[in-house]
Amino acid sequence: MAQLDRRNFLAGAAVVAFDPADSRWLSSLPENSTAIQLPPLDGELVTDEEALTEAATDYGHLAHRRPRAVLRPGSVDDVVTLVRFANEHGLVVAVRGQGHSTFGQAQADCGVVIDSRTLATIHEVTPDRAVVDAGVQWLDLVRIALVDGVAPPVSTDFLGLSVGGTLCVGGIGGASQHFGMLVDNTLELQVVTGDGRLVTCSADHEPELFEAVLGGLGQFAIIVRATVRLVRAPALARVYTLTYPQVTDLTAAQRTALADGRFDYLEGQLVPTDDDDFTFVLEGGAWYTTEPPDDAALLAGLAPAGVDVADVPYFEWLNRVYETVEQIEALRLPSPWLNAFIPDAVTDEIVAELLKTLTPADAGGVALLYPTRRALVTRPQVVVPDGEVFFLLALLRAVSPPDDAHAERLIADNDALYARVLAAGGAQYPVNALHLTPADWRTHYGDRWPVVLRDKDLYDPRGVLTPGQGIFEPVSRAPGTP
Ligand SMILES: Cc1cc2nc3c(=O)[nH]c(=O)nc-3n(C[C@H](O)[C@H](O)[C@H](O)COP(=O)(O)OP(=O)(O)OC[C@H]3O[C@@H](n4cnc5c(N)ncnc54)[C@H](O)[C@@H]3O)c2cc1C
Repeated sequence: MAQLDRRNFLAGAAVVAFDPADSRWLSSLPENSTAIQLPPLDGELVTDEEALTEAATDYGHLAHRRPRAVLRPGSVDDVVTLVRFANEHGLVVAVRGQGHSTFGQAQADCGVVIDSRTLATIHEVTPDRAVVDAGVQWLDLVRIALVDGVAPPVSTDFLGLSVGGTLCVGGIGGASQHFGMLVDNTLELQVVTGDGRLVTCSADHEPELFEAVLGGLGQFAIIVRATVRLVRAPALARVYTLTYPQVTDLTAAQRTALADGRFDYLEGQLVPTDDDDFTFVLEGGAWYTTEPPDDAALLAGLAPAGVDVADVPYFEWLNRVYETVEQIEALRLPSPWLNAFIPDAVTDEIVAELLKTLTPADAGGVALLYPTRRALVTRPQVVVPDGEVFFLLALLRAVSPPDDAHAERLIADNDALYARVLAAGGAQYPVNALHLTPADWRTHYGDRWPVVLRDKDLYDPRGVLTPGQGIFEPVSRAPGTP
């Protein structure tokens, strides 16, 4: 899954032309036809069944929109070429990173999917930054950076995600309480805008574009390269697993730990019990290299019912869920996820309501619940609630055995929970299976909506990019019309 299989790569039927009369891609250019030759590519555009099926599939196994072709770019120029071609011929384009979306966000119905796994070079690692292609997995960057004793300041729980895919959504983890999200630790981007311009942007250069793209759900530009911040990494993680009988005990302890920032990493979980209920777990991490942390100081005032302490190499800690996720992925289960940001003041109330009906099976096993600081989330496209602190609630649902009706019911549950969270001043973290209309997205962006519209007009005026998010009404296109 992680890297493209070379044999499959070579087996693809390469495309050389496009016939706008019937939107067909052709592997030869017939004489006297209306077909248009594709400009030369360093990689290749393919239309074989395997490539199209993969591009119509994601982690969620709920949405299946088939593209008509898949680009495996051999260079950034290929991305520019394809996006310009799409603008000229009225095609939609989406990048697929590691395809860990849950509801077709990286799909492009009848369009072209760019498979970013062929753009996966780590160009440079220095003590304070790395320059990487968008198709690089965080796992590969972390592995290489740790050789030099550095790592990104914050990591997602699962490292098998692409840099481009996570920078499109935000990238939250247990260290976000100190460093914000991955997007807050991105220094520069090289992007291909929706109208096909290759631009380097940062807080100082083209700042509007930089702000539009980070957390921009792929709507304005394709990220082809990113410069991300690195910090000195510890050798070890001491991990404290604290159990609580009541969810309010958990959130109280989390608030105490967040307030003084005692842990380097702070998350929490609703963990299924044998009697089909939940117990509540605070997960705190303290990093160290030589001097172990002071257990008593770290546990003071947290009043857990149970304590487990373990030391693990830092890399193992960062990569702790990789194998489990791979095993789950192999089952290809419908996975209607719901991730929401809930204002601190209403978190206990909303979670208590949820727990009245939530079963471990409907939660997908473990659910995540942890607080972070709003002030550290600095990128305007990432919508988070007002107030000093908000909680992430993540229902990582999986329907086992696969059952369409059950999956639909859970998506309807997601819709209802999202409505409740929204009414209480919360927001969705947009990696979900939710039925969202463009009007819902307007609500999501709130006061920022005029800026979102302006940026779409500025950077992707023909609405070429990333239709799978469903943020804008589809642009109607007669075949072959630009
Ligand atoms: C098992 C698992 C664990 C996760 N853990 C976390 C976590 O701890 N924290 C967290 O924040 N999130 C987490 N997520 C959510 C994850 O960050 C997002 O779903 C992310 O978008 C997935 O990255 P991807 O490479 O698979 O992206 P894809 O699913 O391939 O794409 C996601 C979206 O980004 C667009 N896109 C992808 N690459 C680019 C690019 N280069 N330029 C422009 N647009 C692009 C796609 O078109 C699509 O709209 C997790 C998801 C899974 C399945």
